[in-house]
Amino acid sequence: MLNIVIFGAPGSGKGTQSERLIKEYGLHHISTGEVLRDHIARGTELGQIADGYISKGQLIPDELMIRVLASVLDENPEKTAAGVIFDGFPRTIPQAEALSKMLEERGTELHAVVGLEVPEEELVKRMLKRGQESGRADDNLDTIVRRLKVYHEQTSPLRDFYKKEGSYHPVDGTGDMDRIFADIKTHLDNRKD
Ligand code: AMP
Repeated sequence: MLNIVIFGAPGSGKGTQSERLIKEYGLHHISTGEVLRDHIARGTELGQIADGYISKGQLIPDELMIRVLASVLDENPEKTAAGVIFDGFPRTIPQAEALSKMLEERGTELHAVVGLEVPEEELVKRMLKRGQESGRADDNLDTIVRRLKVYHEQTSPLRDFYKKEGSYHPVDGTGDMDRIFADIKTHLDNRKD
């Protein structure tokens, strides 16, 4: 069993590297951003609430987000048996605390946090490109700037939180994608739980 958080600023490559990790370790991928975008596309009540926050580059309130994650975790117990990659969650300290509790209640734990470290200029370039290619609505300059501000204020303190716990593994998220993946794999294969 391997439960990982893939951590990093918006545009740091979490989705791309998650796809490779799923194949390598047979993990189940939970991207809270994707879960919310799916609700928006289906026009659910949660989707309507989420859209109001996402379009402004703001975070969905912790209490709601934690409930959403718990229900996704319990939806497919057979799929999560080998472990989960959490992508885009946690984004705040209360979410990180809730994640530890949720995993403990389900008889497991978080094994590693992989932090993709990418300079700000590069993040903006990547998100603008993704916006042009995928049409993702929040990948426009105004919202990108707001998302980065929210990241610095609310999410980046999690690095210190996980560093103190000894579970944070920093990886240079720039350059060749194969090299980034190899670095992640080295961290995961040599970790001491
Ligand atoms: P992402 O695809 O991870 O970049 O998420 C897109 C947007 O969904 C974010 O900018 C937030 O508005 C919202 N979101 C995703 N995950 C979370 C979370 N864990 N907590 C709060 N909001 C989230």
